[in-house]
Amino acid sequence: MTAKIISGTETAKVIREELKVEVAELTEKTGVVPGLVTILVGEDPASQSYVAAKNKTAHALGIHSEQVTLDAETSEEELLSIVDKYNKDDKIHGILVQLPLPKHIHDNKVLEAIDPNKDVDGFHPINVGRMMLGEKCFLPCTPHGVLELLARSGTETSGAEVVVVGRSNIVGKPVANLMLQKRDGGNATVTLCHTRTKDMDFHTKRADILIVAAGVPNMIKADQVKEGVVVIDVGVNRIGMTESGKAKLAGDVDFASVKEKAAAITPVPGGVGPMTITMLMKNTLQAARQYAGVA
Ligand code: NAP
Repeated sequence: MTAKIISGTETAKVIREELKVEVAELTEKTGVVPGLVTILVGEDPASQSYVAAKNKTAHALGIHSEQVTLDAETSEEELLSIVDKYNKDDKIHGILVQLPLPKHIHDNKVLEAIDPNKDVDGFHPINVGRMMLGEKCFLPCTPHGVLELLARSGTETSGAEVVVVGRSNIVGKPVANLMLQKRDGGNATVTLCHTRTKDMDFHTKRADILIVAAGVPNMIKADQVKEGVVVIDVGVNRIGMTESGKAKLAGDVDFASVKEKAAAITPVPGGVGPMTITMLMKNTLQAARQYAGVA
């Protein structure tokens, strides 16, 4: 079997077209132009390219976008006061502080300072709690992107054995939580693996849907999955440079071997990555709708 490729690039393109129309409709109806600010502290090249991509996508969709770039020595206090300024700015409906932050700044303190109504990354404890309870909230972008890829590729999740590798707060835990919720796109039986899991192969080989977010290049091989599995590879690992000087990327799944056994698989690049940015735009639109009172 050679797998169907679940293209995040193509799926994201379709969703972005939908969003573009919805942004224009909101603006026409209410006069509200959705606004996003991205705040970057330091000069991490990966973070710089993520922020640039977010701003470019926002512009393309008609979303007003501002970028704040701060040097790595910026104090926590200064960053908190910038967040506070945007909390009060009526033109801005979504605030994204790019992680990771420099070591002297406490991520949680900054994330908790963002107005939950502008928390388009979905990392504020209020949104995390609402997500856990299945209430309306901003869903974290990468897990939301994974759900959209599964839904739009026609993958049935109800009753499926879903195995998630990785238990981070931004990917593994929320994606596991969303997959087990009692609603469309959920209703799965979920297993969450991590570095203390005793026999990982036992779990991965049972998976109908395998979601991998470990940050270890090509870690999942063909002999660790069953025939017909649907694989969502969240991993983005820089493994060198291409001849044209761009970062060479690999996922957490050994694509070449696993695609011969899977029913469907996401590539890296071009899989979950474009979906993450697109879900950020969707959340920004949702925030602007809430602000305009038409949510
Ligand atoms: P993270 O915070 O480093 O967490 C990695 C998780 O994987 C941890 O829970 C860790 O277990 C587990 N893990 C690591 N090695 C393992 C192994 N050998 N066996 C089993 N479990 C293992 O990473 P993250 O932020 O979730 O990101 C994961 C990957 O997704 C990275 O490659 C990242 O670049 C990528 N990512 C992509 C997007 C996107 O938009 N495409 C967004 C976010 C992240 P312990 O908890 O036991 O340490």
